[in-house]
Amino acid sequence: MGGYGLGRPSYKLKAEDCRSLEVSRLHREGCLRAGQRGSWVWSREGKEVARIGYTSTASSLILDYRARQNGDEWEPITQTVPFTYVQCHYGGQRPYFLCPGVVSSQHCRQRVGKLFAGGKYFLCRHCYNVSYSSQSEAQHDRLLRRANKLRRALGGEPGSASWVAERPKGMWHKTYQRKRLEIDWCEQKANHLFIERFAHVLSPEERRKYFDELG
Ligand SMILES: [Zn+2]
Repeated sequence: MGGYGLGRPSYKLKAEDCRSLEVSRLHREGCLRAGQRGSWVWSREGKEVARIGYTSTASSLILDYRARQNGDEWEPITQTVPFTYVQCHYGGQRPYFLCPGVVSSQHCRQRVGKLFAGGKYFLCRHCYNVSYSSQSEAQHDRLLRRANKLRRALGGEPGSASWVAERPKGMWHKTYQRKRLEIDWCEQKANHLFIERFAHVLSPEERRKYFDELG
């Protein structure tokens, strides 16, 4: 399960489309080593779309970037994001960010794998979703479970990245078509919910792009 806590859609919404920071990737690429500094770059189709500077201490990452909200002036921002390592069951350690968000004067400090650039800061999904009901999350999961069940029943693999299996021998064409349509419907609907949920972490162009595509 990805850092979203929801089944990750294999659809257009990729981690790099939502400007997010994944602690495991930063760790793998050596960015968390004390004293390390550099830039973290987001690109799409080989083109750079955003970049931030970072400096690592032994226990936090200091991010340097500029942010702009609602067409205001660009504002330089320095954000300190603490991180920690947690022992895994099977040995080794896993890095986590400790979300630096403050919501209703409460420090979040959630241990998370991923932070999103929603407003000005990189914060966890809990911070950006505090007012969001868990109802649509449950609905999203239900839809994907339903789609996966149908996919398996046809002899295929779960997940919208896989092809739907061919019509099983002995199954009516009509029945097969109906099941395929239902799979499509469930997955489309789940994507829609997901994108709606994370609309605030998308840039205006991305929002336009995804919502136009989904119709
Ligand atoms: Zn948070």
